[in-house]
Amino acid sequence: MLRGEKAVVIGGGIAGKLAARVLADSFKKVIILERDSESDGPTPRKGAPQGKHIHALLFAGANGLERLFPGIMETFNTSGAVKINATKDIAWFHHGVWKLRFNGDYTTILQTRPHLEWHIEQYIKGIPNVTIKYSQTVREFLFAKEENRITGVEIADGETRKNIHADFVVDASGVSSLSSKWLMKREVHIPVEKVKIDLSYFTKTLELPDNPDRDWAIKLVYPTPPFEKIGGGISRVEGNRYLVTFMGYHNELNEKEVLKSDDSFIEIARKLPKLDLYHELKDATALSSTSTFRVPDITRKRMDKVNDMPNGLLMIGDTICRIDPFFGQGMSIAVLEALALENLLTDQNSSNQQIIEKFHEETGKIISPIWNMVITEDFRYPDTVGKKPAGLLIQQWYAKNIFLLSSENKYVYQSFIRVMHLLGPTSALMRPGIVKSVLKRTFTKDHKIH
Ligand SMILES: Cc1cc2nc3c(=O)[nH]c(=O)nc-3n(C[C@H](O)[C@H](O)[C@H](O)COP(=O)(O)OP(=O)(O)OC[C@H]3O[C@@H](n4cnc5c(N)ncnc54)[C@H](O)[C@@H]3O)c2cc1C
Repeated sequence: MLRGEKAVVIGGGIAGKLAARVLADSFKKVIILERDSESDGPTPRKGAPQGKHIHALLFAGANGLERLFPGIMETFNTSGAVKINATKDIAWFHHGVWKLRFNGDYTTILQTRPHLEWHIEQYIKGIPNVTIKYSQTVREFLFAKEENRITGVEIADGETRKNIHADFVVDASGVSSLSSKWLMKREVHIPVEKVKIDLSYFTKTLELPDNPDRDWAIKLVYPTPPFEKIGGGISRVEGNRYLVTFMGYHNELNEKEVLKSDDSFIEIARKLPKLDLYHELKDATALSSTSTFRVPDITRKRMDKVNDMPNGLLMIGDTICRIDPFFGQGMSIAVLEALALENLLTDQNSSNQQIIEKFHEETGKIISPIWNMVITEDFRYPDTVGKKPAGLLIQQWYAKNIFLLSSENKYVYQSFIRVMHLLGPTSALMRPGIVKSVLKRTFTKDHKIH
């Protein structure tokens, strides 16, 4: 069923492209308006500066992408992305223990975010009724006050201003979205959950010397809160290069110090709880300068709880929620949201406005358990500020046991991986067998839980 002549999507990042893909089934024409100019290859973009940092694609995100763009996983592989076994090829030091390593059932793909996004874009370009218009900054919404309805957007193309009318407007302009500012100006009340984490990211692309003994494709050394605040990771990506990212919570990393030289960047590896990354990096060759990114707070706009939203506007992706990037979930959340929208658009009995409202309710359901999982971890640091989830201490105690058991119990680790990759609910970790292992561990081992 055609739902209208034209849908407009503001922002051609991950969420914008995915929204356009599903809207194309229901609208005669879909236009993506992207502020950046067209990339001529998989290179970082000004409009998505986070793209220079390691971007993990979770299983749920990968499965959803494959559904929306059949064959895309193979496209990633054939163009150089690194397909790995998710339990054998990842060396992961977490909460003071190395996770088990074994040839398990799950595979995943390592690649840079620009590589992933550029390939999605090529698929989008193959959809006949979707147009991407580059170098188009959306400045304003067109608003019909008497109907309380967004009817399109005003764009600036250099000096020229132009109005584009649409039946359906999607805001996918990222974390500092146009709609947030617009809604705030109109005093539309959006309940916001905000947690202060003062996280900083530093990333470089490097070439590692050949090492026949290297038995991993990604190596992660995470800090154990609350005393350790710096983590790091090395990930092989397309082009036989390695992305190296260090992260520090609560401003633990001094930007001036890190940016002094290539060596000062690598020196961070000495501050990690294990020296493994340092040993890998000390003879590496830098292929790029160091990129930085700061995430002072994570925020979640409760669009599912807004009462006086204007009609005709749907928000998606980081416009609704910026989650702690340390957990690698943002893109996969955008995929899950796009799938939810796809599903709602097929409901012939709902009007476009009803679909928008149901979609915002659905995003609440998608994000709530993920947000809860993430802030449970973030609140292990006493400097984290915000509304704590109910039952925090018991959740932290239980999760810590799951993390520790993942170094000795295959079943627990595989169950944890499924939850971490958003394939199953956290309640899957409460199965009797797992609860029994947690209790057994608690009462038979001498350990300290922070
Ligand atoms: C440091 C860091 C590391 C991360 N690591 C991971 C990870 O490992 N795995 C993961 O899944 N996620 C990760 N994320 C999260 C992920 O990057 C985001 O969740 C994801 O990019 C959200 O996509 P989006 O399309 O909503 O926003 P964006 O990707 O930010 O895209 C917004 C787009 O809108 C355009 N735009 C903005 N304003 C306008 C306008 N007015 N007019 C027209 N266009 C406009 C921008 O140019 C941009 O292209 C990380 C984030 C950060 C900050």
